[in-house]
Amino acid sequence: MRFRIVWLVSVLWLALAACTSTAPESSETVRVMASTSIIGDVVQQVAGEHVAVEVLIPRGQDPHGFEPTPQLMAQLQTADVIFINGLGLEAALEKMLDAPEFADRVVALGEDVPVLLPVEADGHEEEDHDEAHADEHAHGPYDPHVWFDPRNVAAWADHIADTLATLDPAHADAYRANAAEYRRQLDALDAWIREQVALVPPERRILITDHAVLGYYANAYGFQQVATVIPGVSTLAEPSAQALSQLYETIRAYNVPAIFVSEMINRRVVERVVQDTGVQMVLIYTGSLSAPDGPAPTYEELMRYDTTVIVDALRGVE
Ligand SMILES: [Zn+2]
Repeated sequence: MRFRIVWLVSVLWLALAACTSTAPESSETVRVMASTSIIGDVVQQVAGEHVAVEVLIPRGQDPHGFEPTPQLMAQLQTADVIFINGLGLEAALEKMLDAPEFADRVVALGEDVPVLLPVEADGHEEEDHDEAHADEHAHGPYDPHVWFDPRNVAAWADHIADTLATLDPAHADAYRANAAEYRRQLDALDAWIREQVALVPPERRILITDHAVLGYYANAYGFQQVATVIPGVSTLAEPSAQALSQLYETIRAYNVPAIFVSEMINRRVVERVVQDTGVQMVLIYTGSLSAPDGPAPTYEELMRYDTTVIVDALRGVE
């Protein structure tokens, strides 16, 4: 009996010692949220084991059309930091987060990137991006899909590391080291995309997408985004009959073999375009990662998947 008590006491003591020694490691102190699964992945790469990032918009849902529920609003109140893209991408969520109570907790990663493209109706880019950078961010004159240029995501990583380091100084070095390592991976990704795109003859580097989602990709890798099925940089619109006939003309004029569309988009109009023109419909991932067991479970794999199917379709590889 006595032996048993001694054993129990020493087990308890060991357990207690274990608790106090591991407690500072698993700091549950910082509550980090991210709007899209793409941003969530990048934040997690930088946070590493020190933070479990909560993603607000479920995978497979369109960030443009996402409507926050009352439960989500309650969840947001408990966040220490909420990473969003901004520039109008998460339209309804952004409006909610505009409230003064969130002012010092929201980090809009998309609004502070090296490459910022204006929203263009005619498909041509303006020069002087730095000048354009200076003002009017919140008013939507910029294409919000900044993650389609890995240089912008590298800038996100640094911005995320700085933010987490301020909230959780004990792990500041780890966050900065993770961001630096992730930057190296993004450099490799960028080099790989360039190699792949080089396989497509320059005159065939023509992109037609469901909405204007690949502006940054086109700009970075020498494509022309010549037309879209849905007008503009949001998915929350319908093409007019006139816009559709203009689209058909463009498809014929450029002799494009394929249009690139996301699973999240209402397929009705796209299917009509396919029927009317005989163009091939190729699925890409745009505003959300795939399911964890799908082909685009991380940002990096999303970019590799999209690049592979785009290059194959434009080269005419089945
Ligand atoms: Zn979009």
